[in-house]
Amino acid sequence: MLKRNPPSAFCLLPSAFCLPSSAFRLPLSASRLLLFAFCLLLAACSPSPAPPPVETATPTVLATLPPPVTPTLDTPTPSSTPPPQNIRPQYALDVQFNYANKTAIVDETIVYVNNSADTLTSLVFGVEATCSQSFTLNSVSINQSPISDYVFDYQNVQAYIRHRLEVPLPQPLPPNGQATVQINFGLILPVVGNFSDETSLCSQIYGYTAQQVNLVDWYPFIVPYVTGKGWVLHNPWYYGEHLTFEAADFDVRVEFTDGSNPVIAASGEEVASDGAASRRFRLEAGRNFALSFAPEYRVLTKTVGDVVIYSYYFPPYETAAAAVLNATAQSFEIYSQRFGPYIHKTLSVVQGDFNDGMEYSALYYHSKGIYNNYDGTLKNHLTAVSVHETAHQWWFEQVGNDQGFEPWLDEALATYSEIVYYETVQPDALKDWWWIYRFDPYKPLNQVDARIYEGEGQRPYWNKVYLNGAHFLQDLRARIGDEAFFAFLQDYLAQMRGKIATTDDFFRILREHTSADLSDLIAQYFQNPH
Ligand SMILES: [Zn+2]
Repeated sequence: MLKRNPPSAFCLLPSAFCLPSSAFRLPLSASRLLLFAFCLLLAACSPSPAPPPVETATPTVLATLPPPVTPTLDTPTPSSTPPPQNIRPQYALDVQFNYANKTAIVDETIVYVNNSADTLTSLVFGVEATCSQSFTLNSVSINQSPISDYVFDYQNVQAYIRHRLEVPLPQPLPPNGQATVQINFGLILPVVGNFSDETSLCSQIYGYTAQQVNLVDWYPFIVPYVTGKGWVLHNPWYYGEHLTFEAADFDVRVEFTDGSNPVIAASGEEVASDGAASRRFRLEAGRNFALSFAPEYRVLTKTVGDVVIYSYYFPPYETAAAAVLNATAQSFEIYSQRFGPYIHKTLSVVQGDFNDGMEYSALYYHSKGIYNNYDGTLKNHLTAVSVHETAHQWWFEQVGNDQGFEPWLDEALATYSEIVYYETVQPDALKDWWWIYRFDPYKPLNQVDARIYEGEGQRPYWNKVYLNGAHFLQDLRARIGDEAFFAFLQDYLAQMRGKIATTDDFFRILREHTSADLSDLIAQYFQNPH
């Protein structure tokens, strides 16, 4: 991600005044700094909604929340069964969507294999649509047994509580055991960015505008389970992403029940539907599945190898949309060569009807402001953000990570990928533009490995995790040389593709490619020793 709204719960001013509204409007003017200081002052003296707890514990934190129905949930059972097979969850989502009313009824089926070494007695889901209070759970069954004693406080005033659903299993699920979950739920979409008392904790993309519908993080998903530790579901925060996704397979059908027929942008490729009234999409080994509908979308396409790249846009923006497509396709080729191959058949770029950008599987959103400000050159926000978001299809999508606790693993690498792009297509941009543009005001901080909750505001968070992270990678490359650096990145991708990488994985694989002493670099950039 490159742009999220600021933590407005901390400030009574309109949020756009509290922090820079774009990652790229650098440097901060004195007036902005004064406004930011004013916001902090207001936050200190004004009543505001209680923020969610800052997470400082290990990923087991939510395993300590309300006790499960059966007493063995959080006390993993050691097992002598064979090693887990690591079979991906299979999601089938059948969406009946009323475009006129912006409502949906969804049948969801998940085939889940317990890939951990622990015996599970319940399943934990992240239900992000509850943040905007647009979600209704109609029924849950597991292995065709209806379940009613689930734990789901979806009306709780605290978004970080209501996004967690825990469903007890009818029988304990041993390692390699399989369960089939069926969920029926309803959505009444909110207006984008216009919901609840904790607005700034909710997605700024999910919902609808006058010309667009966006379904992102819209269905209950089973959060990762770490052997011996528990379920990984962190609290939402005012900036940054808090979710961690296992790679999964998706089969999604969409039918419009009101006779409408909008253009559909989707994660994954469209396949023939066996029902004339529905459209069907499939994605393998994706982290999540996003959909966007708009009657007015236009689309430009480009084929790179066997991958089709789509640029969805609104009619006045064809020139900028073509530039987005070109930058995405060009960086796509460069990353494929420097890092390793992409795994999907499509990549869709969607012009948002809002000022935010975000990566999803095989799809990313661009802020509408990016299109408005395009100046026809490579040295501009549109190009830099396009190649940053494209890089997330490697660092986030292929190599997953705990975005709440270790956001540097995807954001520093996506930011550094901008350099890999520019040094290939326009090296002089790095001398006279990129570093100044991205690193001013750059202040060295040994907090690359900060959690989102330690960001101390969106701008400082970007500085710590994105910019210092990219600077660390630049220094690392200078220390070990280009050959070892790119051999490491390729190996990191190959070893961690489809998995959830940790900072320990990063340094373990790095040390397979260099014997250089890195202790001074690590001390300079990281809070914790690695
Ligand atoms: Zn990013």
